[in-house]
Amino acid sequence: MNRVKNFNAGPAALPLPALERARDEFLDFAKSGMCVMEHSHRGKEYEAVHDEAIALLRELLGVPDTYDVLFVQGGASQLFAQLPMNLVEKGRSADYVVTGAWGEKALSEAKAATAMLGASVRVAGTTGTGEGKEKSYVRAATAKDLQLAPDAAYVHVTSNETIHGVEYDVTPARPFPDTGKVPLVADMSSDFLWKPLDVSRFGVIYAGAQKNIGPSGVVVLIVRKDLVAAGRKDIPKIFQLRTPAENKSLYNTPPTFGIYMVRNVLAWLKGLGGLPAMEKRNRDKAAKLYGVIDANASFYRCPVEKESRSVMNVVFRLPSEADEERFVKEAKAQGMVGLKGHRSVGGIRVSAYNAVEPAWIDALCEFMQAFAKRG
Ligand SMILES: *Cc1c(COP(=O)(O)O)cnc(C)c1O
Repeated sequence: MNRVKNFNAGPAALPLPALERARDEFLDFAKSGMCVMEHSHRGKEYEAVHDEAIALLRELLGVPDTYDVLFVQGGASQLFAQLPMNLVEKGRSADYVVTGAWGEKALSEAKAATAMLGASVRVAGTTGTGEGKEKSYVRAATAKDLQLAPDAAYVHVTSNETIHGVEYDVTPARPFPDTGKVPLVADMSSDFLWKPLDVSRFGVIYAGAQKNIGPSGVVVLIVRKDLVAAGRKDIPKIFQLRTPAENKSLYNTPPTFGIYMVRNVLAWLKGLGGLPAMEKRNRDKAAKLYGVIDANASFYRCPVEKESRSVMNVVFRLPSEADEERFVKEAKAQGMVGLKGHRSVGGIRVSAYNAVEPAWIDALCEFMQAFAKRG
């Protein structure tokens, strides 16, 4: 077996112990004579896994009792539409802060969803500059960038822009916006569970699992119970947040194997020391990568402002696109894959999620040093 050093942006690397556990339990789960995938979602074997995954999320993040922890499907992209459908009453509006491509998508879907339901959204601030192919995002928003409406249904942010490598709350200079009494809604798809988080600051946190905590097909949704209760009832039941909330995310068949894998990943995370240990590990990894970039500033260039540099997705450019192509190719020959930047922005992207081992980062940094030296 020759496993590569996987720097994919998503779906992304999973911790080897979580995969090995799945392998060992695959054909005969909990001595039941079948795979967990073959179990009824109403049976006690699956239910134990489901409950454990939710309990681990609550424990690792210290989720207050006033919040529901839910599993939903459709990807974070479905939540782009589903959250405004639930949370913006007729005649009201929600605020969007756009700091990258995912924020743009969230805004666009929210516009369509609210227009359909007699509500609206507005842009409360953006850090984007330029137009079309030249459009760029190099920082998270500060209070000065924002004009928040005091009566907005919520304020939406993308905590980590996976494509642009722009993240909130990594340095004290770029905290999450202070929204006062207005609930803060955060798309944390690509930076969920890499460090401790004060959940009580948020109305809603949502994250597709396939970046940092599992396979695709599962979204974790942490939502204040009063927001669920006040949610609109004039939308189909399957889209109402109260439906999973009132049925322990078992209203219809959930993605059972995906949730099982999330359980395995969370158990691994807890075993490593939980979120404080993960934060140290991830900050060390990012510091090494940005260290090599900054030490070779005539060769590597990170477009993102220092205060907003993502710990999860480290993006940078080389002197030319031909150099970047050669970089990706030579790295691949050394067993390091997934380094090509998103097609919309080009360049190199190192996704250094929880499962990415510090030793892989060391190997990559060594490669980067040598590559820059050769020029
Ligand atoms: C990947 C990603 C999404 C989209 O996730 P899907 O599960 O493909 O819908 C949304 N937001 C962010 C920040 C992402 O990184």
